Amino acid sequence: MADRILECGSRLTIAATTIAIAALSVVAALQPRDRYELNDSHLHLTNYIQEGTNIRDFLTLMGTKVGRVALFGIPLQQQWSYGNSGDFAPTYYLQTDAPLYYYSFTDAVIATAYRSLAPAERERFDPMITGFNPADVYAADHVRRVLTTFPGVFSGIGEFTIHKEFVSSKIAGETASLTNRALDRLLDFAGEVGLVALMHNDIDVPFPKPGQEPYQLVQLRDLFLRHPKTTFIWAHIGLGRVIHPVRDQIGIIEKALSNPALSHVNVDISWDEVAKYLVATPEATRAAADLINRYPDRFLFGTDEVAPADQTTYLKVYRQYAPLFAQLTPEARENVRTRNYERLFDEARRRVRAWEHVHVKEIAR
Ligand SMILES: [Zn+2]
Repeated sequence: MADRILECGSRLTIAATTIAIAALSVVAALQPRDRYELNDSHLHLTNYIQEGTNIRDFLTLMGTKVGRVALFGIPLQQQWSYGNSGDFAPTYYLQTDAPLYYYSFTDAVIATAYRSLAPAERERFDPMITGFNPADVYAADHVRRVLTTFPGVFSGIGEFTIHKEFVSSKIAGETASLTNRALDRLLDFAGEVGLVALMHNDIDVPFPKPGQEPYQLVQLRDLFLRHPKTTFIWAHIGLGRVIHPVRDQIGIIEKALSNPALSHVNVDISWDEVAKYLVATPEATRAAADLINRYPDRFLFGTDEVAPADQTTYLKVYRQYAPLFAQLTPEARENVRTRNYERLFDEARRRVRAWEHVHVKEIAR
């Protein structure tokens, strides 16, 4: 009997130890900050023809370097128009004159990939809803439908695009606009649910005439001011392949960041096409570093890679930024690489799960 009790006791001890180890590994998975070098606030798992990296392969590629990733597809599908490119199958929007169209199934692809992971692996991703047309007043309804179809998955909306060089004018149907009520309804809904809104909007037109003031800038400021309850990440600080920093870009961004009415607006420095400006010269690097050091809570690192195949390609832009990171204060460097991501997306997860708790139950009743 005593033996049995002892045996039972040791089994209990083993069971308790196993539970303790499991709990510790869950805690470790929940605290990637201590183990990883960076988080990525901007990653497209699939490309313009909805093909991409398998999420398991991608996890391997994140390795021990990248802790958490904001994960999404691309809302646009490049049409293969036989009349335009014949047997040539375009995979990128610059390879054909055929239009792009909104491809909502991307959200189901991302949700399914995410759900194929084990719970501790899921902790490393923040999936985003992106398969909606921002010029459609029904866009918000799509987002609601995705949340209720795939509860427990999404943390934000985006990257969605309003003005983008070469892309916006290729999209079939009505052109998106910062002044469209459809966008206001979408952003109100994001604010109500707690979804982070990652938005691409060029700061200017390509090849502007000298002295021409960018109309996007005023419209964008007004849009941000109209949605104080929505957490924004303005992608690429408004820059692009040919969208150069506008005159006094640093001054304009500084004015926005110092405005208390715009404290809900953050920016990402993703895309190698953006890094090329920020580290173009020692002076440019210094000016960008000074700005980030003055507002260390507002900048996020992101890669903007599309379906990367290996870690070297994936982290190209991270390496490109080495001279910039070297000039940041330790606090700013830490914030840009990991902490700002964690603050924004932890809060989004908490709020979106709470919203789902109320609304998904209602639908199930
Ligand atoms: Zn992107």
